Amino acid sequence: MNYSTSPKLLIKASSVWTATGQSFARASVLVEAGKIAAILSEEQSHRLIESQDQTLSAADRIEVIDLPNCVITPGLFNLHTHLDYSQAPAIPENSSLFTWMAQLVASTRPWSPDDFARSAMAGARSAALAGTTYLVDSSYTGQAAEAMATVGQKGLVGLELFGLDETLAERIFEIWLKRYQSLISTASGALKEAIKGGQIAITVAPHAPYTVAPGLWAKAKDWARGHSLMLTAHLAESQEEADWISSHCSVLDQYLAKVMPPNVNKPFPTLLNELLWRGQKRTPTQHLKHFGLLDDNLIAAHCVKLNQEDFEIFAQSGAAAALCRRSNERLLTGAANLSLSLIHI
Ligand SMILES: [Zn+2]
Repeated sequence: MNYSTSPKLLIKASSVWTATGQSFARASVLVEAGKIAAILSEEQSHRLIESQDQTLSAADRIEVIDLPNCVITPGLFNLHTHLDYSQAPAIPENSSLFTWMAQLVASTRPWSPDDFARSAMAGARSAALAGTTYLVDSSYTGQAAEAMATVGQKGLVGLELFGLDETLAERIFEIWLKRYQSLISTASGALKEAIKGGQIAITVAPHAPYTVAPGLWAKAKDWARGHSLMLTAHLAESQEEADWISSHCSVLDQYLAKVMPPNVNKPFPTLLNELLWRGQKRTPTQHLKHFGLLDDNLIAAHCVKLNQEDFEIFAQSGAAAALCRRSNERLLTGAANLSLSLIHI
């Protein structure tokens, strides 16, 4: 595109909000060469249109889009999504996290890759209609990347990684690498362009401290750092997770036995007994820190079960948090006690 000759675009709305918190009533956004050039008052935009060279062809004149009763805002960010589950059954009333997750896994297991792709597309479209232009997604299929590229959103898509058996860490990470390479090599033209242009990046998403052994997580961390990418994970979302990491939790044992890939050579109870990194009286945050897995390259979702010491550890690490308050409320996990973090603000 020759930007020097591209026509100007003037978008008028009832209100224009900027990223720095200003708002302008009955204003317009002037776009030149694909970039915001100015925010104009009603009078300024009127003068601009009136001053146009009347000899210009219609194609070269300022294009005006009038959006009465609308607000123009900077695109919204959503730092934790699972777009490919957008069409999964709704969360039942009063459902706890692990009851719902078991249902989610059971109901989507029969889904084909096309089902996941359609679901991710529905999620990306719905997010766009709500004004979300940047997403940090994590999913097993990575279909969110295709959906976001098609819709025109930007973001970071974490291809999820699971594995509790540290003795298999190398093999499990090799399989993850193959899934990653397959996602990249089979990407549509739109996704290839978005990756090349830096609009979308695909990274690794170690699912959570209760589903990824520290040795496997470390491989993900090193890979992400080596590719100059952040990685995304769930952290301290529930009391069950905190109990399971610190000592034990039978609810989580039963859930994991159901959903983790089975190993015919190692029954799940045997594997649980081998996990010497749990039951050490550490919180999930202390667990990550202990194994050198908490740093400023991590976007951690939920962060509900952090005590004051955890907040200090978290703040010192420089990690980023996506608090997911609506999800926490819906799944009855509680809310991050942010008053404990205020000492760092
Ligand atoms: Zn999540």
